[in-house]
Amino acid sequence: MIEVKNLTKKYGTFEAVKGISFSIEKGEIVGFLGPNGAGKSTTMNMITGFIEPTEGSIIVDGYDIEKRPRLVKQKIGYMPENVPLYKELTVREFINYMADLRGIKRSEKKEKINKVIDEVGIKNVQNKLISNISRGYRQRVSLAGALVGNPEILILDEPTVGLDPKQVVEIRNLIKSFKGKYTVILSSHILSEVSNMCDKIIVINNGKIVKIDSTQNLINTESKNSKIVYVTVDNESSNFETVVKKLKFVSSFDIVSIDSTSKTYKLNCKETNNDIRKDLSKAFSKENIIVLEMKLEEATLEDAFIDIIDTNTRENKIREEKLARQKAVKIKLSLRERLSNPNKIKNNKGGRK
Ligand code: ADP
Ligand code: MG
Repeated sequence: MIEVKNLTKKYGTFEAVKGISFSIEKGEIVGFLGPNGAGKSTTMNMITGFIEPTEGSIIVDGYDIEKRPRLVKQKIGYMPENVPLYKELTVREFINYMADLRGIKRSEKKEKINKVIDEVGIKNVQNKLISNISRGYRQRVSLAGALVGNPEILILDEPTVGLDPKQVVEIRNLIKSFKGKYTVILSSHILSEVSNMCDKIIVINNGKIVKIDSTQNLINTESKNSKIVYVTVDNESSNFETVVKKLKFVSSFDIVSIDSTSKTYKLNCKETNNDIRKDLSKAFSKENIIVLEMKLEEATLEDAFIDIIDTNTRENKIREEKLARQKAVKIKLSLRERLSNPNKIKNNKGGRK
């Protein structure tokens, strides 16, 4: 249904989306999961045709968005991140306006508007001003606006942001009820949200895809591949963090509590062949770290997600540092070459004039 290849977006020299590729089948509910600034909205904006890619292609239902932009746009209903609703309109007037934008025939309009009003459950507020309804209802109105054009695909950017817990559950259930009716892409920075609603998860970090898998596989493999260990150490063991940073099987750690005599850390560990506590004990005793308590826990999917993002961010940092070092070495070498061969500089200068 949607085929994205090597999609790239540059803002000036900054690459917000770095050559991502994925495909989405008809009827799937797919989640873009990633921290703020990962490139989720940028990617969605390119698929909806709101912004142009710098590179790459988007094929929707067999049509290239670059060649058939109008046709593709008609297939897509879009709910942007910050819902720009016209507060001086009533709910019904707004949906009517969206129907006009979508070029819906006058003869069909009333029926279509009634249908989406029913579908998202806003019948009781249809004649109220948008300024007078709750945030949860506004989100539904925005959804109705995305649905009124009869799209096959729905793109929902952070659909539950800013809602209270009850409204969050309501919107999630509504989106889940779209299963089979529409192909849905939604974005979120909350793992439990995507795992609750989506069949497939695309994890994006730093403009790149770090993982694509079915939600079920992610739950089965990722959380089993990592373990959480709570370690309480004596306050005297001030070298603890330095030691932990060097351990390859610890992907991230965080301090969870501290008192006058001890500190407790949460360690996100990769599964090893051993009992992970044995590996940790060996490493700690070698460095004279006094362990007061150690507790093993299965990682939750949320832990696994944090682990995926942390590992990826760290690998990116290492790669960038390596590139920076290589660049510095190159500059040094070329400087040395010029200093040892001043004639070349003169010649170069002469050449440029
Ligand atoms: P997400 O939706 O995952 O939070 P975005 O797609 O909004 O991320 O942004 C990805 C990156 O691109 C961010 O670093 C953001 O600051 C940058 N960015 C987004 N829009 C623009 C723009 N119009 N000009 C320059 N940089 C932008
Ligand atoms: Mg966003």
